Amino acid sequence: MCDMGGLDNLIANTAYLQAREGDVKELQKRRKSLSLPSTDFCRKDIKATVPPDYESICVQQPIGQRLFRNFLATIPEYQLAQDFLDEVSEWELAEDYTKEQLLEKVVSRRFKEESDGRLPFLSPELSSRFQEAQGKEIPGLVQLAKEETSTFLMEAPFQDFQDSSFYDRFLQWKAFERQPVTHKYFYEFRMLGKGGFGEVCAIQVKNTGKMYACKKLDKKRLKKKNGEKMALLEKEILEKVHSPFVVSLAYAYETKSHLCLVMSLMNGGDLKFHIYNVGERGLETKRAIFYSAQICCAILHLHSLNILYRDMKPENVLMDDNGNCRLSDLGLAIKVIEGKTINHRVGTRLSHWLLILLGVEEERGLSYFSLVL
Ligand code: ADP
Ligand code: MG
Repeated sequence: MCDMGGLDNLIANTAYLQAREGDVKELQKRRKSLSLPSTDFCRKDIKATVPPDYESICVQQPIGQRLFRNFLATIPEYQLAQDFLDEVSEWELAEDYTKEQLLEKVVSRRFKEESDGRLPFLSPELSSRFQEAQGKEIPGLVQLAKEETSTFLMEAPFQDFQDSSFYDRFLQWKAFERQPVTHKYFYEFRMLGKGGFGEVCAIQVKNTGKMYACKKLDKKRLKKKNGEKMALLEKEILEKVHSPFVVSLAYAYETKSHLCLVMSLMNGGDLKFHIYNVGERGLETKRAIFYSAQICCAILHLHSLNILYRDMKPENVLMDDNGNCRLSDLGLAIKVIEGKTINHRVGTRLSHWLLILLGVEEERGLSYFSLVL
């Protein structure tokens, strides 16, 4: 006898895997159909609605950041500023054994009087301090130069950017982003998991072929369990978060029956599965430390936005194709309001995070991982 359930699963899986691989020709055809609104319309109707906020446009928004960089590359003096900032960030993130060498390179290229790569926009005070500086003082001066460079970019370069064709392109993307999204924008594939208020499915944007996970919250179930406020809060919080270690929200839309949150697709299963179901129980120490470090970055980012996560457990840590992990399920997270204390107890009881990852302890006891950090 044919197992129809099994067959259905097989078909759903095959369709999903095919979509992930992507048909190049089909994608090219679809990309061509992706047309941006006209620049005239954008200058007239969109420009006035986008506040000229440097931090938001050129630092936080990936498309704005990319276009601003492309614009800077067209003017040599501006390009110097960007190159210097890149070098500083490379130096800041470098391993200890290359740090000193990198710093020397930056200093001789950017601050020596005879160098072509000198930064002409630095204040005379700072430039002369560099000429006399020695050893320990230098890292501090580089930080000051970094601040002056950022301030420089916020002024003339940002103004000129707003008059350039690169900014027109940014406005076109802004207009595109504001178009309402419905379920027709996506193909839907198999279920990836089940949540308290509905399923999470794999979906694909028709225009670009990009795959995402869609958390579908059943409106009726939300209403029955008074979950509407929580669902909206989850969306609001996800909108604010920009971290490589927390799932990000790409789209949100509703259908008659569901609220849908479209998020980064995490194909590698959750940490609980990896701890208990793959090989022997527990992870190697190196892996446990690696994931814990990524999750600490996630929690620190949330805390920097005054968000408390409150649901720390291996089940909520999802893996991607490349072996990196992200925190997911911000359904219990809350925004802390300055001056108010939070004292309700929610989430899963969890103690000894590392011991759980190593497979030494079961999940039990109570810890405020999210509060302590
Ligand atoms: P709930 O808030 O109802 O607990 P979750 O956000 O935890 O819902 O999602 C339920 C399940 O769906 C998860 O346990 C996981 O298996 C799967 N899932 C959730 N988000 C993703 C994602 N971004 N990528 C892949 N699977 C996901
Ligand atoms: Mg969950």
